Amino acid sequence: MSERRDFLKKTALFSLGSIATSLVSSEQIQALEKAGESFSLLEEYTLPPLPYAYNALEPFIDMQTMELHHGKHHQAYVTNLNKALQTTKHPEITSLEELCKNINLFDTAVRNNGGGHYNHSLFWTLMKPNKDAQANNPDGKIAEAINASFNSFEDFKKHFNDAASKRFGSGWAWLIADNKKLKITSTPNQDNPLMPMAEERGTPLLALDVWEHAYYLKYQNKRGDYTNAWWNLVNWNRVNELFSKI
Ligand code: MN
Repeated sequence: MSERRDFLKKTALFSLGSIATSLVSSEQIQALEKAGESFSLLEEYTLPPLPYAYNALEPFIDMQTMELHHGKHHQAYVTNLNKALQTTKHPEITSLEELCKNINLFDTAVRNNGGGHYNHSLFWTLMKPNKDAQANNPDGKIAEAINASFNSFEDFKKHFNDAASKRFGSGWAWLIADNKKLKITSTPNQDNPLMPMAEERGTPLLALDVWEHAYYLKYQNKRGDYTNAWWNLVNWNRVNELFSKI
């Protein structure tokens, strides 16, 4: 409780300072800024807007699932991450990616909610509408790399679907780049391949949420049907963009 009180007091002091500097000395504000703690509220994580409408991924992912998944589940990860970071401070870590890479410095609440925020923020950008159910195959550099690493797109999909179906309980399936090498892996809960404890580590290029909340309303227990439908939505331009930064 004392830590929380301390945090609130410092935040209040800083807010007050920015409105009416005459009430708080500039030395006090500088000291708070230096401590890095006064910025906790100013640098809170926020829910990124979806890059498309809630119903845009139909018929493959339904509107109600997207509303709950983004508006409730992802929002809860953001809210709980901000809450957890009020008591666990590493001011030198400012990006979500750095947070994941150094997640061993934090408690379980930051691991679960920080992972949840990173994973979902990435996941939304890796999908795009495909109302007409057009064939959706990779192109460009990522298509070449997939063929070189997995023989063909069909073989790659089989491996990836396998990772998604064999992940017991809640988790994620991933395509990652470990330096230039492509690998398929999966993680439990809200862990991801940036985290030091991941079985396979690397830069995420493609992610599939296989938590039941991602598909249960439309697909019930049929995770395989959801996975097959999801391939219609993969945003290969975004995957290429991530791959080009490796
Ligand atoms: Mn999810």
